[in-house]
Formats: sequence, structure tokens, C-alpha cells
Amino acid sequence: MISELLAPWRTAKHTVKPGAFFISLTSVEAPLPYTVKVHQRRKRLAIEIHQGEVVVKAPPLCTQELVETFLNQQQHWLKDRLTIAATKPSFIREYKNGEPIWFMGKPLELKVVKTHQTSWHYLPDQNTLMISLSGRVKNRDIQVRQQLHQFYLNKAKQYLPTLLKLCEEKTSLSSTALEFKFYQWRWGCCYNNGKIILNPLLMAAPESAIECVIIHELCHRKHMNHSKQFWQLNAEFCDECGQTKNWLKAHHDEVYLPTPK
Ligand SMILES: [Zn+2]
Repeated sequence: MISELLAPWRTAKHTVKPGAFFISLTSVEAPLPYTVKVHQRRKRLAIEIHQGEVVVKAPPLCTQELVETFLNQQQHWLKDRLTIAATKPSFIREYKNGEPIWFMGKPLELKVVKTHQTSWHYLPDQNTLMISLSGRVKNRDIQVRQQLHQFYLNKAKQYLPTLLKLCEEKTSLSSTALEFKFYQWRWGCCYNNGKIILNPLLMAAPESAIECVIIHELCHRKHMNHSKQFWQLNAEFCDECGQTKNWLKAHHDEVYLPTPK
């Protein structure tokens, strides 16, 4: 993500509207499609690339003209990022035998067999996660995904309350409740009332990475934002955040379980 303050918004005549647009840039061959999102509390323009798509995040009083100037200024950066996004071979989950199922930072082999009852079995000696499907199952992939979710939720309930307690002792910060919810793009969150929500898919990551996410959420008990003070507090308890971010980013496509097509 890049971000830059451009001009005094308040003198602008035509404020930008959210939506989909095109822009011709000299360093990008075809007209480039991009989406504008307007955020009421945002003060700076930012460009993000999500799965090869360009998203401009704009403050409410910014103009379309400024958005275009900004895209022009950042076109070399954009070209590089789009090239990387286009060439990066991303893993495609198909719920087939032999695919990796990450658990505590290590890949297990997915094995799907037909039996009389639908269930999952973790076989640590064989580094395998076996999914049994009853012969009557109609949509195989949906059932496999459901069982994988059950597996992660079961492991999350088994490990994460203890890990949360350890992190609370380490930081002297405490939560009021712990709940689990599957998200696509977030690992956890913390509410004003102290309730912490963790994504059970976190069980895919190494323990140090899980701890990092929990500490991050606990630090929100003191600062409900990502201010400098928040990151200072976070750094007091956790010096592996960079590695954690990299692991979670690098493995996202292999960890996230998309709805089968
Ligand atoms: Zn946060």
C-alpha cells in the first residue's frame, strides 16, 4: 500500500464518487481499470492491489482529478506491482487428495475416503488429515470443506483458550470473552467490550505466529487503533510480527478454504 497527501481537499469543486473507472497511463499498455472507495475518516489517498485489481481509497472531499493525478504519479510502482500480481503462481484449492492442509505451521496431506459416516481424523503419525465421506454424500467438495472447518474449529477450541491465557499473563492485558469466526482476510479482532474473536484457520500457522496475532488483539485492549502508541506496546511483547505477517501472507491461498465452485 502506498499513501500520500496531495492537496487541500476543501478547495476542490467536484468530489470523487465511489465506483469503477478506467485510466490511460503511459507505462501501462491498455487502459487500466480501477475502483474508487470513499472512506469518511480517511485523510490521505492510498492505492492497494487486491488479487490483481487496483483499488483507490479516497478521503470524502477528494476530487476525481486528484485521484487520476495520483495514479499517474504512481504508475511505475503500479506497473511493477501488477506484473508481480500477474506472475505470482497462486495455489488453487480444489479439495483433492494429496493437497496440503496446514496445521501448526506444517502441511498435512489431505486424504478423502468413502465410508459409512462423514467425519475427520487427524493422523499425526502419517502427517495426514483423513476426511471420511458417507456414500450418500451429494456435494463432495462442500462436505470436505465443512469437515476441514470442523477440524480447525475443534483444534482452535482445544488450543487457543490456553494460548490466550498465556498471552494475557505475558502482557498483563486481559480479554473478557473469546469467540471463533471464520474470516477470509482477517485473523482476529477485538471489541470495545474486550471480547476477542479469532479465526480458527489460525490453527494452520506456526505457534509463534498465532501468539503474535493474539498479542496484537490484546494490545487493542489498551489502544483501540493502530497508532504509534499501539505499535510501541505491541513491540514490547512481540518482536516476531514481521515474520508472522510474512508467513500469513505467503500461505494465505493454501490456508483459506474457499467455497467450492
Ligand atoms: Zn489490529
